[in-house]
Amino acid sequence: MNHKLKPSSRLTIIFILAVVLSGSILTYFSINNISNLKELTEKRILEEQRELSARFSTEIQNNIEKITHVLNVEISLFDVLKDLLIKRTSEYDFIIQSFILKNNGQFIYPYFIGIIENTPETEFSSRFRSAYKAGEEAEFTKKDPGKAKSYYLSCLGHSTGSRDSVKALNALGRASIKLNEIEDATSCYISIISYYFHVTDENGFPYVYYALPQLLKITNKENREEIFPTVESCLEKMEAGSIALNFNSEELLILVTNWLKVNTSDTSEKSVNINKLAESVNRQIQFTIKYGNELSGLFKKGYSESHAVAANDFKVVNSVSGNNQEFFLINTNFENPVGFLIDRKKLFDTIAKSDIQSDLEFDYKIDFPATFNSNTTGDNLVYTAQLNPLFPEQLIEIKPVDENLIKDLITRRGWIYGIASMLLLVAMCLGVVLILRDIAREKHLARLRSDFISNVTHELKTPLTSIRMYAESLIMGRVMSDQVQKEYLSVVVNETDRLKRMINNILEFSKMEKGIPEYHLVNSNLASILNEAIHEMNYWFAKEGFDVVTELDDKIFANVDPEKMNQAIGNLLSNAIKYSTDTKKIFVRLFNKPEHICIEVEDLGVGIPEDKLYRIFEQFYRIEQKESISGTGLGLTVVKEIIEAHNGTITVTSEIGKGSRFTIRMPLDGN
Ligand code: ADP
Repeated sequence: MNHKLKPSSRLTIIFILAVVLSGSILTYFSINNISNLKELTEKRILEEQRELSARFSTEIQNNIEKITHVLNVEISLFDVLKDLLIKRTSEYDFIIQSFILKNNGQFIYPYFIGIIENTPETEFSSRFRSAYKAGEEAEFTKKDPGKAKSYYLSCLGHSTGSRDSVKALNALGRASIKLNEIEDATSCYISIISYYFHVTDENGFPYVYYALPQLLKITNKENREEIFPTVESCLEKMEAGSIALNFNSEELLILVTNWLKVNTSDTSEKSVNINKLAESVNRQIQFTIKYGNELSGLFKKGYSESHAVAANDFKVVNSVSGNNQEFFLINTNFENPVGFLIDRKKLFDTIAKSDIQSDLEFDYKIDFPATFNSNTTGDNLVYTAQLNPLFPEQLIEIKPVDENLIKDLITRRGWIYGIASMLLLVAMCLGVVLILRDIAREKHLARLRSDFISNVTHELKTPLTSIRMYAESLIMGRVMSDQVQKEYLSVVVNETDRLKRMINNILEFSKMEKGIPEYHLVNSNLASILNEAIHEMNYWFAKEGFDVVTELDDKIFANVDPEKMNQAIGNLLSNAIKYSTDTKKIFVRLFNKPEHICIEVEDLGVGIPEDKLYRIFEQFYRIEQKESISGTGLGLTVVKEIIEAHNGTITVTSEIGKGSRFTIRMPLDGN
């Protein structure tokens, strides 16, 4: 027994093994890859978190750099310095307030005088003094404001400087109000606010603080338009530090706000601006009250040694007023120390909202917790670290925005690998199926070929035996009469024809296989081609006793290769003879249909099973028949090839035991 595997089976086994092996390797790597993916992603996230933390720290530094840029001791002019500080404050919304201090910690800007110092007595002229005294006596003792006013007017005439002028103006204003001379009073107070805003009385109290409330009080329809710009410029001066702020300023602001409500609508441009100014001044007041002590304390403690420089000689001072929400940026190298109060949270938020995450793979949420989160390790991917050495107690916490990031990533990757593996498996199985099918087809063809060879041999043998037998008889002179001799010769000729037909089929098939069939199309009368084909088969019809009925339209012409058409019809007629039993009748028809030419060859023979109908035109295909009916399985293949080469079609209808009808349809023009 031969145990050797056939090459095709070996190939199949190798292929299946390759499929199983590569499938397993792929699956193994997919699983491995997924578990590695978790680790790698965690590592990547941690790297990005570290990077983000470092970037954040650098950004803090950059921001401090930007705020303090060009603020150095080279700016010797106080006003330039102050303007720069104010500009910076308006540019960065995390700067709450900028300030300039005296070395003892008192404020120069915002200009706040906490404890008012008495100003040294000014020497007024004797004429001024006596007139002023007379005025006061008339005003307060004699209750005669008219007289008082004239004394004060002469005081104004005797004034030589701002201090006596403003004193006289203030008294004049007061007397005018008592006289209900509002117009005069208005111009007195407006003059004080406009020109003598920096002048204080003997107690160190600015005259503005007397003038403004009076002006607000005497506002009416007539003077309103005049008073508005004065109030506005007064607040501007307070904001800019030209008018000193003190503990009375808050009250003054309340008066202004109430006055605004009465005298204008809330939405008017003037009102909005004055309100804004009032808010800003109020902020300055609150700031100075809140941080005054702390700042002067800082200098006493000698803070400058204990803090490192953050940028441009500015140092960060944390824990302002016991909270961590704000910090100071102070530079003491100036003649008068300068600094900023900064809202720490706002600064951090500004940085967090900037594009520091732009080129990172994942999105992160940044927080600033007070204490370490205990779950910093493990699955929650939270990274906590010290934010920046400038804020030693401040932590930064960074976590991915998507908490299920890794889980989702793994699920997604799992799906991709799963689907890919499935597709691969399906493709591989399909490959196996295709290969198996190919192998089966190859096997089938090989069997058909070997059947074909034995069939051809058999087919050739039959006519050859006949030819030899009859020829021998003739040679040996066994046949006497001319009639019999003729008969024998006719057998030899017809058998030779049969041989020729068979060989022609094989040749045609071989050309077909090689793809080089030659056709010589000639406009031919189809009826005569059919008649000739029938005529060539007459011997066999007569021999078998067939009745051939023809219905041929002899006016039909078409462009055909007459020889090939003859071969095709010959094959159909030969089959009709071969596959007929008792009813030996054959119909050959040729007729025109509106859309094509029809040729029909019909027999009343054995018929073809319905499930085999579609296969009979395949090469080498034969339906199992009685032993006596031989064939090569090429006849119909050649017919189909010839008809299709003429752009025609061939179909068959058949019924078992009743016969078959082959119908050829040719295009009307023959092409
Ligand atoms: P073969 O050499 O076997 O005749 P063909 O290609 O001519 O090869 O025909 C293929 C098969 O079709 C035949 O084996 C036969 O079974 C069937 N067949 C062809 N013509 C007829 C017919 N007129 N009646 C019944 N069966 C037919």
